Amino acid sequence: MTSADDGTMEGLAVTSCERCPELVESRSQIVNGTGPEDADLVFLGEAPGANEDDQGEPFVGRSGSVLDEALRDAGLARADVRITNCVRCRPPENRNPTSAELANCRGYLQRELALVDPELVVTLGKVPSEHLLDRSVAVTKEAGDVVDVRLGERSYRAVVSVHPAATLYDGSQRETFFETIAHAADLAGVATDGSGQSSLGDF
Ligand code: URA
Repeated sequence: MTSADDGTMEGLAVTSCERCPELVESRSQIVNGTGPEDADLVFLGEAPGANEDDQGEPFVGRSGSVLDEALRDAGLARADVRITNCVRCRPPENRNPTSAELANCRGYLQRELALVDPELVVTLGKVPSEHLLDRSVAVTKEAGDVVDVRLGERSYRAVVSVHPAATLYDGSQRETFFETIAHAADLAGVATDGSGQSSLGDF
């Protein structure tokens, strides 16, 4: 049993944690991952924003709508995949999480991925890509690249992606994002042709 300061996890959910003083101040709740506990595909974002903090679910704002659309295009529904963040509490004024905050939350992600044991992790944007690849990443250039990443004792196959919000500021990123999600669905073996049939079903 750990104290609230150290954080407590029940299954895949962090139920209490006060490791990051500024985030404890700015959050209204801890935003845990959603989706099947045995998902083949996990999407990893940066941190909750205002909508996520309000609703207690990752990617429910405008970025979430873009992600939902790209999933639909790949023949998937949000309920088919797991969606989580590097940091589970909303940073003040939507600033990026600090390296200390990322480190404080890393063990929770490590446990979540170990329990879910996905075929593939998609890193949505620069912060999650650099967090898992442990180097600087030029996401626009590296989008769609398949890499092996280590988290704790385990390694995972991952695909680098631009953040869905990038498509809102820069229309040219939209194609890159949608192609990456379709590629990821294929690699994870969950792609469908939109009729619910696996595109690999004949093979
Ligand atoms: N952006 C993220 O990185 N994560 C969310 O949950 C929402 C927006």
